[in-house]
Amino acid sequence: MSLVDSRTPNPKNFIKGASGDWEVVIGLEIHAQVTSESKLFSPSSTEFGQEPNANVSFIDAAMPGMLPVINEECVRQAIRTGLGLKAKINNRSIFDRKNYFYPDLPQGYQISQYKDPIVGEGVVKLDMGEDGIVEVGIERLHLEQDAGKSIHDQHPNMSYIDLNRSGVALMEIVSKPDIRSSEEARAYIAKLRTILRYLGTCDGNMEQGSLRADINVSVRAPGGEFGTRCEIKNINSMRFAVAAIEYEARRQIDIIEDGGVVEQETRLFDAKTGKTRSMRSKEEAHDYRYFPDPDLLPLEISDEYIEEIAKNLPELPDEKHERFIKQYDITSYDASVLVSSKLNADFFEEVAIGRNGKLAANWVINELFGRLAKEELSISNSPLSAKQLGEIIDLISNGDISGKIAKELFEIVWNEGGNPSEIVEKRGMKQLSDIAAIEKMIDEIIEKNPEQVAKVKEKPKLIGWFVGQVMKASQGKANPQAVNKILREKLDI
Ligand code: ADP
Ligand code: MG
Repeated sequence: MSLVDSRTPNPKNFIKGASGDWEVVIGLEIHAQVTSESKLFSPSSTEFGQEPNANVSFIDAAMPGMLPVINEECVRQAIRTGLGLKAKINNRSIFDRKNYFYPDLPQGYQISQYKDPIVGEGVVKLDMGEDGIVEVGIERLHLEQDAGKSIHDQHPNMSYIDLNRSGVALMEIVSKPDIRSSEEARAYIAKLRTILRYLGTCDGNMEQGSLRADINVSVRAPGGEFGTRCEIKNINSMRFAVAAIEYEARRQIDIIEDGGVVEQETRLFDAKTGKTRSMRSKEEAHDYRYFPDPDLLPLEISDEYIEEIAKNLPELPDEKHERFIKQYDITSYDASVLVSSKLNADFFEEVAIGRNGKLAANWVINELFGRLAKEELSISNSPLSAKQLGEIIDLISNGDISGKIAKELFEIVWNEGGNPSEIVEKRGMKQLSDIAAIEKMIDEIIEKNPEQVAKVKEKPKLIGWFVGQVMKASQGKANPQAVNKILREKLDI
């Protein structure tokens, strides 16, 4: 791959060393398990959590004479993902054998794609807040088989092998070395996962291993030549990705500043120590003796087939983001928060439709998401439905309740459920807009507090004290605008 530096160095990303500033360069290879009912070349089920070796056919066990047959659904999923990455779909791709020995790979080779992958170059956009939009190039996406699992901890002197995962379809998504900080790497994994989940092509579940990242890290003088990279294998959480990159960048800087050279190698991240350690020196492509699998024909995909798939893609996060800003008049930041999960976005739309978009975004993000995060709940377990939240917002917009009362109402509905308008009626939470009643309260407060009245005439800012008294007398129900207006008239300030 030709390495082109598409980024202007951002000093915010620089890492301080003894000899000056350094810049980290990162490229990710992400393995995403394809959502499909059966495996890439066999009819075995892909269901997670089955009894060991329950999902194994003769093909997965590599019995002699078995022939792989491509699963069209996996091909469609790879194409859909490619389109979601705004990438070129190749009309012709080839399945190759990548030869190596692993106890949990009975074929003795993995069927993968090498020189001719199904998907070519694309791009993923990251919203880095005040640092703007960062574009990370996609080099390629290819289809390949997953391996099985060796289990070492169930017998004192034997290892077991579970082939349930063997032959499950993976998409390997390779980025260009366009990432420049651990935070960008985190944002990249998160964005990719969001896109995959919108498309329904991978469940994105990192704990279950459906999404794992190999992280290539090198360091250089800011804007200088690319340095030698190390590849950190099999990272399965965003937190570990950040920790691994930070440790590895520092390790390489220390080596170079001590006059050494970084050796290209494959490393492992130890979550307990937060350190990376050497696993093996970097293998070369020719070690694998790639060659086209003679059991499989080249994969030919017509433009019509691709267009048909493209027509049926759902709205993706970037497009939704743009639409939300226009349609609901909300900030780019709020739109980013909302579209980061499709469930969140759908919930917001249900609340916002036909209402004030900004008010809806504020209540969904600050009150609801804030509260859900505090209780470690997800939107699908929200005690408050979109309909209930929408009604609370209507009560505010109609002037029936103040923002402060609305927060109390939110609490009641959160804890007890129920219809917000009925609760307001029943518990007498309606805002007092009855001018005569407010006037009466104000008259009483003025009469009882001649000293305060004298003070406020000197210093009109002290009106706050009076407002507070009225709110107290009305148990928070007086309409604050009305109170202010009447107070100013009566006090003549
Ligand atoms: P290989 O086939 O040996 O894995 P690739 O050229 O395909 O090598 O690159 C693999 C990954 O390493 C890609 O994600 C790429 O962006 C990244 N990469 C390449 N060079 C560097 C570098 N100097 N520093 C950091 N990452 C790099
Ligand atoms: Mg590679």
